[in-house]
Amino acid sequence: MTVKEEIEQLKREKNAVILAHYYVPDEVQEIADYIGDSYYLSKMAVGLEQQTIVFCGVSFMGESAKILNPDKTVLMPDPCADCAMAHMADAETIRRMREQYDDLAVVCYINSTAELKRYSDVCVTSANAVDIVRALPNRDIFFIPDRNLARFVAEQVPEKHFIFNEGCCPVHEQISPEEVQKAKAEHPGAEVLTHPECTEALCRMSDYVGSTSGIIRYAGESSAEEFIVCTENGVRYELEKRYPQKRFYFTQTEPVCMDMKLIILEKVLHVLKTGENEMDVTGNVRKEAKRPLARMLELAGTKQTAGPARG
Ligand code: SF4
Repeated sequence: MTVKEEIEQLKREKNAVILAHYYVPDEVQEIADYIGDSYYLSKMAVGLEQQTIVFCGVSFMGESAKILNPDKTVLMPDPCADCAMAHMADAETIRRMREQYDDLAVVCYINSTAELKRYSDVCVTSANAVDIVRALPNRDIFFIPDRNLARFVAEQVPEKHFIFNEGCCPVHEQISPEEVQKAKAEHPGAEVLTHPECTEALCRMSDYVGSTSGIIRYAGESSAEEFIVCTENGVRYELEKRYPQKRFYFTQTEPVCMDMKLIILEKVLHVLKTGENEMDVTGNVRKEAKRPLARMLELAGTKQTAGPARG
């Protein structure tokens, strides 16, 4: 039996479901039941009928799945797969900001630890951040941890006062505008599609800025035939699968999240076989971190539906 066949068989036997982020390796995306960006996966994790969730992504994603589904078993194929940005804020700074501003909302990008979420008022993803911030009654917004997404949202919600935090995604921050210019020179007809975790300079020279799922959608709707994609290179799999007639290019230094690439088929099989690497978020952390996550789902008006397996 191949590794994939063994995974399929164990999944059925153990009543398990596999969720995967667009940035994990292609072969893992291939075996996933649900594949998407953080927003889609956080919605899908709610109310799944299977008892065991194998979460092919980094630890904050598994934490969110566990917080939203405390009675389920959430297995992480590699517990060392972590997001550097998820740790780039701290409780003490949040406390000081709350002292300084009476009417502060702490808005926490979902790419953050449960420990940070618990001190926040609402979570957001790159797909829903603008709508959620706009819907908040507060004028002062402390946006953690990503300064690039914060700036992108602030530009679109000028009626709010933003306080920025010095965190960023090292993978997106390092996508170089010069390399994008070079790719443009090679493919003059290509549109530039950029994730808002990228720098301001790169966003300004882009034809479209949006979440990973937004980029995928835009590539399908645009009349352009070629695109320079400024986000993690795992998204190439879905883009080429959905739009085989279109061409997708990345910068010469391809953006790779090494933590996402830790998730390989053999590790998925291992946790299904052994039940090891179970995610655990306990006590007050779980209770307090659930509040901003639930508020996000509520404000975004999104209840899980029997939707497509991709998003
Ligand atoms: S790509 Fe960036 S934000 Fe996403 S998991 Fe990797 S380090 Fe974190």
